[in-house]
Amino acid sequence: MIAMPCVDVMDKACVDECPIDCIYEGDRMLYIHPDECIDCGACEPACPVEAIFFEDDLPSEFSGYIAVNAGFFTSIGSPGGAPRGGPVAGDHPLVAALPLQADDGALA
Ligand code: SF4
Ligand code: SF4
Repeated sequence: MIAMPCVDVMDKACVDECPIDCIYEGDRMLYIHPDECIDCGACEPACPVEAIFFEDDLPSEFSGYIAVNAGFFTSIGSPGGAPRGGPVAGDHPLVAALPLQADDGALA
Protein backbone atom coordinates (compact mmCIF):
# COMPACT_ATOMS: atom_id res chain seq x y z
CA MET A 1 0.00 0.00 0.00
CA ILE A 2 0.97 3.62 -0.34
CA ALA A 3 1.28 5.86 2.72
CA MET A 4 1.56 9.55 3.54
CA PRO A 5 5.06 10.24 2.12
CA CYS A 6 3.47 10.14 -1.36
CA VAL A 7 1.08 13.00 -0.58
CA ASP A 8 1.82 15.99 -2.84
CA VAL A 9 4.88 14.19 -4.30
CA MET A 10 3.23 11.91 -6.86
CA ASP A 11 6.19 11.50 -9.22
CA LYS A 12 4.60 8.23 -10.44
CA ALA A 13 7.86 6.28 -10.56
CA CYS A 14 5.91 3.35 -9.12
CA VAL A 15 3.31 3.38 -11.89
CA ASP A 16 5.87 2.47 -14.53
CA GLU A 17 6.94 -0.59 -12.52
CA CYS A 18 3.51 -2.12 -11.94
CA PRO A 19 2.86 -5.00 -14.35
CA ILE A 20 -0.91 -4.90 -13.90
CA ASP A 21 -1.63 -1.15 -13.60
CA CYS A 22 -3.18 -1.42 -10.14
CA ILE A 23 -1.70 1.88 -8.89
CA TYR A 24 -4.34 4.58 -9.27
CA GLU A 25 -3.87 8.33 -9.16
CA GLY A 26 -5.86 10.57 -6.86
CA ASP A 27 -5.56 14.33 -6.66
CA ARG A 28 -2.85 14.35 -3.97
CA MET A 29 -1.45 10.80 -3.78
CA LEU A 30 -1.52 7.46 -5.50
CA TYR A 31 -3.33 4.39 -4.17
CA ILE A 32 -2.74 0.67 -4.65
CA HIS A 33 -5.86 -1.36 -5.27
CA PRO A 34 -5.82 -4.00 -2.51
CA ASP A 35 -7.77 -6.58 -4.51
CA GLU A 36 -5.94 -6.11 -7.81
CA CYS A 37 -2.37 -5.96 -6.45
CA ILE A 38 -0.49 -9.26 -6.82
CA ASP A 39 2.17 -8.34 -4.21
CA CYS A 40 5.00 -8.64 -6.72
CA GLY A 41 6.98 -5.91 -4.94
CA ALA A 42 8.22 -4.24 -8.12
CA CYS A 43 6.95 -0.80 -7.15
CA GLU A 44 8.46 -0.59 -3.67
CA PRO A 45 12.13 0.10 -4.55
CA ALA A 46 11.13 2.66 -7.21
CA CYS A 47 9.62 5.08 -4.70
CA PRO A 48 12.03 7.93 -3.92
CA VAL A 49 10.31 8.80 -0.63
CA GLU A 50 9.72 5.24 0.70
CA ALA A 51 5.96 5.60 0.64
CA ILE A 52 5.22 2.01 -0.46
CA PHE A 53 4.96 -0.86 2.02
CA PHE A 54 3.76 -4.42 2.20
CA GLU A 55 0.91 -4.51 4.72
CA ASP A 56 2.97 -6.49 7.24
CA ASP A 57 5.81 -3.94 7.05
CA LEU A 58 3.69 -0.82 7.43
CA PRO A 59 5.10 1.49 10.14
CA SER A 60 2.63 2.07 12.95
CA GLU A 61 2.39 5.78 12.20
CA PHE A 62 0.95 4.89 8.79
CA SER A 63 -1.42 2.13 9.95
CA GLY A 64 -4.44 4.21 8.90
CA TYR A 65 -3.31 3.96 5.29
CA ILE A 66 -4.58 0.38 4.98
CA ALA A 67 -8.07 1.84 5.19
CA VAL A 68 -7.07 4.84 3.07
CA ASN A 69 -5.93 2.68 0.15
CA ALA A 70 -8.98 0.41 0.38
CA GLY A 71 -11.39 3.29 0.99
CA PHE A 72 -10.28 5.15 -2.12
CA PHE A 73 -11.90 2.40 -4.19
CA THR A 74 -15.29 2.17 -2.47
CA SER A 75 -16.86 4.42 -5.07
CA ILE A 76 -15.09 3.07 -8.16
CA GLY A 77 -14.85 -0.62 -7.30
CA SER A 78 -12.30 -2.68 -9.18
CA PRO A 79 -11.82 -1.20 -12.66
CA GLY A 80 -9.17 -3.81 -13.52
CA GLY A 81 -6.47 -1.33 -14.45
CA ALA A 82 -5.66 2.31 -13.87
CA PRO A 83 -6.03 4.84 -16.66
CA ARG A 84 -2.75 6.55 -17.59
CA GLY A 85 -4.39 9.88 -18.23
CA GLY A 86 -4.61 11.36 -14.76
CA PRO A 87 -6.59 11.36 -11.51
CA VAL A 88 -9.59 9.09 -11.29
CA ALA A 89 -11.57 10.01 -8.18
CA GLY A 90 -10.29 12.82 -5.95
CA ASP A 91 -8.79 11.55 -2.68
CA HIS A 92 -9.68 9.61 0.45
CA PRO A 93 -11.09 12.15 2.96
CA LEU A 94 -8.15 11.65 5.35
CA VAL A 95 -5.73 12.62 2.57
CA ALA A 96 -7.84 15.47 1.28
CA ALA A 97 -7.86 17.00 4.78
CA LEU A 98 -4.06 16.98 5.17
CA PRO A 99 -2.21 20.30 5.02
CA LEU A 100 0.01 20.84 2.00
CA GLN A 101 3.10 18.62 2.23
CA ALA A 102 6.59 19.68 1.17
CA ASP A 103 8.41 17.54 -1.41
CA ASP A 104 10.39 15.75 1.30
CA GLY A 105 7.21 14.65 3.04
CA ALA A 106 7.53 17.22 5.82
CA LEU A 107 4.79 19.73 6.48
CA ALA A 108 5.03 22.79 4.29
S1 SF4 B 1 3.29 -4.87 -5.59
FE1 SF4 B 1 3.35 -5.27 -7.83
S2 SF4 B 1 1.20 -5.50 -8.45
FE2 SF4 B 1 1.21 -4.51 -6.41
S3 SF4 B 1 1.15 -2.31 -6.85
FE3 SF4 B 1 3.32 -2.87 -6.63
S4 SF4 B 1 4.02 -3.31 -8.74
FE4 SF4 B 1 1.75 -3.35 -8.75
S1 SF4 C 1 6.86 6.40 -6.46
FE1 SF4 C 1 6.27 6.87 -4.32
S2 SF4 C 1 6.02 9.13 -4.26
FE2 SF4 C 1 6.06 8.49 -6.41
S3 SF4 C 1 3.88 8.28 -6.93
FE3 SF4 C 1 4.62 6.23 -6.33
S4 SF4 C 1 4.18 6.08 -4.11
FE4 SF4 C 1 4.02 8.23 -4.68
